Amino acid sequence: MTRLIFLGPPGAGKGTQAQELAKSRAIPHISTGDILRVAVSQKTDLGLQAGAYMDAGDLVPDSLILEMVRDRLAQPDTASGWLLDGFPRTVTQATFLDQLLQDINQSCDSVINLDVPDELLVQRLLERGRQDDNEEVILNRLGVYRRQTAPLIDFYQDREILITIDGSQPIEEVAAELASAIQ
Ligand code: AMP
Repeated sequence: MTRLIFLGPPGAGKGTQAQELAKSRAIPHISTGDILRVAVSQKTDLGLQAGAYMDAGDLVPDSLILEMVRDRLAQPDTASGWLLDGFPRTVTQATFLDQLLQDINQSCDSVINLDVPDELLVQRLLERGRQDDNEEVILNRLGVYRRQTAPLIDFYQDREILITIDGSQPIEEVAAELASAIQ
């Protein structure tokens, strides 16, 4: 059973690593960003409400995110494990997740913190060229990460479940380090 949270700034490689690991372990890769992008493209209520925040690089309000995650973790495919990518992103979300996992009798094994210096993040994000990857929005997302999400490093360090990996290495080396860190 594998249940992991992927933490790290935008451009750290969370999505790439989580996707590969999820495939090799046959467990769902749950990316809140991916779920939101589908909602935006399908113009659902959630998508219509979330789109403007995403375009600006701001966090989508918890009132929209928390129910979305509760619903996703209630799907039957999560019985075999899960990888959370891009959630939690604030201490409030992490506290909500704690309570949710307690309610459904699950726990998270480890939190993978992919550490990458800012210069490399900006370079990678500019190369990626997603809709929310222009320079102004990138800088806002990095600021939002430092202010709102980076405090989770201490939050999970205190619980002794944090594993930090140097995400500036080539993809294969990050993947190998990750595989040996989680067994
Ligand atoms: P990502 O694909 O994880 O980079 O997320 C893209 C965008 O979706 C972010 O910039 C936020 O606007 C929004 N988003 C994704 N996950 C969350 C979350 N857990 N809380 C709030 N907003 C989120």
